[in-house]
Amino acid sequence: MLSAILIREAFVRCPKETTSELVAEQLTADLPVKRCPSCKGNWVAAHDYQHWQSLHAGLEVIPDKVLPLTLESDFEPALLDSKAGLCPECGTYMKRSRLTLKQAAFYIERCPLCEGFWCDQGEWQVLEALGLHVQIPIVFKPDWQAQVRALEQTERQRLVMIDKLGPELAGRVFELADVLKGHPQGDIGVAYLMRKFEK
Ligand SMILES: [Zn+2]
Ligand SMILES: [Zn+2]
Repeated sequence: MLSAILIREAFVRCPKETTSELVAEQLTADLPVKRCPSCKGNWVAAHDYQHWQSLHAGLEVIPDKVLPLTLESDFEPALLDSKAGLCPECGTYMKRSRLTLKQAAFYIERCPLCEGFWCDQGEWQVLEALGLHVQIPIVFKPDWQAQVRALEQTERQRLVMIDKLGPELAGRVFELADVLKGHPQGDIGVAYLMRKFEK
């Protein structure tokens, strides 16, 4: 027990700047964290987060409704966001998950061992805006990540189409694609279009 306490104390440093000691703060009124006074990043211990989650039960996240790319925000990633770090509690290398917004991308980090996580300055507020703050572990699941990447890919293609064809024609293409997709024999229409463009 004593050695466990000693290990905990020895590593309560900022994962991004090892010279900086984390101090006790509140992320919200009911979520205590350890904050770096220098970079303002927050360490959220797993047990504190789980307790907070239990207070906010019922706020469920539906993965396919979450599309970070569409969030309009003037958020700018913290200076040390992309720097890898060690868990302040147990010293394990933290895993990262990349979240893409319309104007920026950033990483959330989580310790695979003790399951606490690190939010650089401003990241919690973005997670909250996305509705992901109630279910942060989901962000680290490969199937959630794959789903979001696929949605992002589709969204990027839409933006390219609008850019190249103009909103009016692009809108007609999207509409036709939806109609064909919803029609039991829609593939005949797709084949016709493809033949039209064959050389
Ligand atoms: Zn720091
Ligand atoms: Zn850890």
